[in-house]
Order: sequence, then C-alpha cells, then structure tokens
Amino acid sequence: MIDPHVHLRDWEQRGTETLYHGLRTAARAGLTGVFDMPNTAPPIISREKLEIRLADAKEAQKKVALERGHTIFYGVYGGLTADAEQIREMAAAHRELFPAVVGLKMFTVHSTGNMGIIAQSQRKFVLSVLFEEGYTGVLAVHCEKQELLKPELWDPNEPHSHSAARPPEAETAAVQEIIEAAAETGFSGTLHICHISTPESLICIELARKKYPFLITCGITPHHALLDTSSKLSGNLLKVNPPLRDIISRKEMLMALINGRIDWIESDHAPHTPEEKRDGASGIPGIAGYLLLVRELLLAGVSRERVRELTGSRVCEVFGLNSSRVTSRVTSRVNFREDQCNVSDLPERAREASEEYATDPYSLLHFLDSDNSQS
Ligand SMILES: [Zn+2]
Repeated sequence: MIDPHVHLRDWEQRGTETLYHGLRTAARAGLTGVFDMPNTAPPIISREKLEIRLADAKEAQKKVALERGHTIFYGVYGGLTADAEQIREMAAAHRELFPAVVGLKMFTVHSTGNMGIIAQSQRKFVLSVLFEEGYTGVLAVHCEKQELLKPELWDPNEPHSHSAARPPEAETAAVQEIIEAAAETGFSGTLHICHISTPESLICIELARKKYPFLITCGITPHHALLDTSSKLSGNLLKVNPPLRDIISRKEMLMALINGRIDWIESDHAPHTPEEKRDGASGIPGIAGYLLLVRELLLAGVSRERVRELTGSRVCEVFGLNSSRVTSRVTSRVNFREDQCNVSDLPERAREASEEYATDPYSLLHFLDSDNSQS
C-alpha cells in the first residue's frame, strides 16, 4: 500500500511529526511507500533542500528498516513557485533524481514560503515553463481559489464554520482553472488534482478527461470519504483544507470512490500538536484513516483487485514506478502485500496508528470500535 500524499514535516516542525516517526508509523501500519509534500519549514523549493531532505529521509528509512526488517519507500515532491529559474531547477531535479523526487507540487492558495500561486496568469506561466522543460512527470495541485475563500465566515466557536469559509465552489473553480491552464500551455505530464472533496470537482475532471489529451488523475482523503460536517468533535480537530463537506456530498464522494471514479486514496497525513490545533491549525493525521477507509471499501464489497488499484497499483502506473528503469534503481520495490489488507486486522492497525497522534480524530469518533461501519 502506498500513501502518495503525506506531510512528514520534521526540521523546524519536529514537534508535530518527523521523518523517522512518520515512516515508522506508516511501516507499522503496513504501508510500503509514502510521498512527502514540500511545504515544510523551510520549504523544499531548491535542489539543495531536496538533497538534504532525501539524505535525512534515508537516515530515517535505515532506522525503520533496522527495527522492522524491511524498508519503506520514500519519495518527495519538489515545490513550485512562480520563478522561472526555480521551476527549471525543480524539473531538472525530477529528471535526475526520480523516483526519489517523485513529482512536483503546486498550491493554488497561500502556502508555506512563496509556494502559493494565486493568479491564473502565474499558473499558466509555471505550466509553460514546465512545457519548455519537457516535463512529463506528475504535477500534483492543491486546488482552492483564494479569491473565493470567505475567511470572515470562520468562527472559532463553531468549528464547522471553516467549511463555509472555504466553500466547495472555491475548490471547483481552481480545478477548472488549472485544467484550462494545462490545456492552453500544452502540458504533457499528468495533472493530479489532490484531495478532491466535492462531486462538482469530480464532474469537472471527468468532462475534461474527455476533452483534453493529457492525463488527469484525482485522489480522495480518508477524511473526505468518512467524515463530514455532521461529525461532532469539539475544537478544531476536524479543521482541514479543503474542509469537510456536508453528509450528502461526503456520501457521494465515497460512492464515487467505490464506483471507480477516483484514482486513488491519499491520506494528506498532517499531524499537529494539540496546542496548534487549539490555535486553529488545519490538518488531520491520516494513517489510521487510510486503513479505516480501506476497511470500509472491503466491507462495502469492493474487490481486492480494485482495492489494490486504489492503494498503490494505480499510483505506481501513473508515477511510472513500475518501469524497469525505476525498479532497478529502487532498492526496495514499491509493491503490495496482500496480507496488509486483511479486513479483520485493519482496526487494530488503525488503532496503533491513531495512538501515535494526540490529534487523531478517529478514536474519538468511535471509528475504531469493531462493530462501527460508517457507510
Ligand atoms: Zn497536503
């Protein structure tokens, strides 16, 4: 099983998560690979930072391998800014360091450093530079349109007001715009829309797939498939970007996943300390949720073959991790272990992962109770 979207933080945010702890928890949960996001502190937006990150991850991987007897694959995305030289440096790093540098990441809303690429003209610029560079890898995009956010609706005493402050139309508009930008600039890689949370975004992607020649993929998080604005937890434990949606949308998204309309599961694992959550930080630990969603799919009768696609084989295909070029270079193949998907084991594994994070919501919501099924 692969989780292609995690935030292992570390560095200046060691208090929330570290490479070692995140990799160890993921390996214990049965994951065989994780792809880490670049909005760290400091952000991973240069060749130098990519190399430091990979060296640090290698140390952590070694420790985990010593403890567990097998290693876990680590890939990282290079973060993009609107600076031409920086974009070229990231494209070159992907060319030369793939699969360790597994893809590139763009944020369409404000993020760490200067990674938020807010204006559509700037997104087109980024994509045109990637085109000039002949980039054919995966470009993963966090889609929310800054101008459509309504921060004035956020009320700290009403945790789910966050969902109104970052409405569904902000996501769908950004999805639409990035697809148009990719089409206009002749993008020839894979456009991956991260963590889609609304049925409208999915329809937009499906229409575009029929219209444009480049591959468009999308992923869903466990929290957008399992949790919604009717989930009751005090404080900010369910505050996340994009936010949770209403129960109708959430159930539609779970059905879309079951029906094969979404490419894969990605946890968006983003732990925070209880203090940070109290102060309004967005992000949910995702490893327990990943296992609980797999369990949900198996209980819903989704075939093993389909679950394998959703938990890794499609990721390998799209990122190009199956090619002989890669497998000869990757010391441990990113493969799937049938035994990791045993439905009766999953709650216990999820409990172990959940216990690693003080802000994990799933135990508090009784998802780990053995007779609880949320579909
Ligand atoms: Zn993320």
